Amino acid sequence: MKTYRIALVPGDGIGKEVISAGREVLQALAGTANTFQFEFTHFDWGGDYYRRHGAMMPPDGLDALRGMDAILFGSAGDPEIPDHVTLWGLRLKICQGLDQYANVRPTRILPGIDAPLKRCKPEDLNWVIVRENTEGEYSGAGGRVHQGHPIEVATDMSVMTRAGVERIQRYAFRLAQSRPRKLLTVITKSNAQRHAMVMWDEIAAEVAKDFPDVTWDKELVDAATARMVNRPSSLDTIVATNLHADILSDLAAALAGSLGIAPTGNINPERVYPSMFEPIHGSAFDIMGKGLANPVGTFWSVVMLLEHLGEIHAAQRVMCAIEHVTANPELHTRDLGGEATTAQVTQAVCAEIRSAGKPGQAPSLA
Ligand code: NAD
Ligand code: MN
Repeated sequence: MKTYRIALVPGDGIGKEVISAGREVLQALAGTANTFQFEFTHFDWGGDYYRRHGAMMPPDGLDALRGMDAILFGSAGDPEIPDHVTLWGLRLKICQGLDQYANVRPTRILPGIDAPLKRCKPEDLNWVIVRENTEGEYSGAGGRVHQGHPIEVATDMSVMTRAGVERIQRYAFRLAQSRPRKLLTVITKSNAQRHAMVMWDEIAAEVAKDFPDVTWDKELVDAATARMVNRPSSLDTIVATNLHADILSDLAAALAGSLGIAPTGNINPERVYPSMFEPIHGSAFDIMGKGLANPVGTFWSVVMLLEHLGEIHAAQRVMCAIEHVTANPELHTRDLGGEATTAQVTQAVCAEIRSAGKPGQAPSLA
């Protein structure tokens, strides 16, 4: 029997609630599988850790993660600590430190979900956004001098490297090639940003030559927002810089019904370091501690984690269980217009996994 070492980093706010739900789902799955099991290591990093130790995670924290097979992450963000301290002190530290340069964000409208676009059918919206995850606008380069004085200067420098751009473009072309439509849209802003984004466009055109079977086009990021709303079916795989994809993927999540459903994987494609999977939402201060968080974004992230481990059949079983549960409006949390609690949705998904795992019984949504 294979044992996968999984790091659980719940972080803050509803991160704590959804990651414990994600662990329950993984345990339910392991209970029905006889080829693998999970060994969980829990890391109490985040806002509470910061209040005790003055840092979001220990200085040698990355060393503890390196030996893991995968990381399941909740959220970094605490009402009492500035957002740039929490995000940089934990999530971005892990993404950069473990070189998780491809941030992959699938979006589609799950069964039973009432998506806000009246002319968009579920089959019209099936996207994967690939976000550059280590440089660009969130490189961390920049600084502030003369703080508080009238001559104060502050910069956030967007840094793009040929190596960084080429590897993310290549990853996106490969992903597009693996999907049925073999369609890629490269998001840019090279009309206004005339240095790095022009290089970004040039590299896309170069990489495209190695993928003659992929149809690709270029779209300016502002126009892309309108295209996502007006012509969703014209898009399939999308690649964009760190900031652009950050914004576009929140829009994508909302168009598919709720931020609470959307998953993501921070991938180190070469597998030198473990990859990290997380719902795209944050700490949700307004609902934290109330048991109302939608855990589906975490469950879908668990599906991505299983796919990354090569457990394709197990991943499909969890996805079937999720879709079976979203199809029932009585199991919708408040963000979807329902009244179900985190615990009820979690129990329903676990029960679905257990019953579909019984011998002689076909999965309910094959
Ligand atoms: P948010 O995602 O926390 O919340 C936005 C809105 O969506 C809120 O109304 C919230 O209640 C709702 N929502 C989000 N997830 C939900 C879920 N699973 N179920 C039901 N409703 C849900 O975004 P925000 O308010 O911009 O940020 C709050 C904090 O989280 C900030 O500190 C921010 O920096 C942090 N944050 C962290 C991450 C991360 O670590 N990956 C991502 C985004 C935001
Ligand atoms: Mn974001």
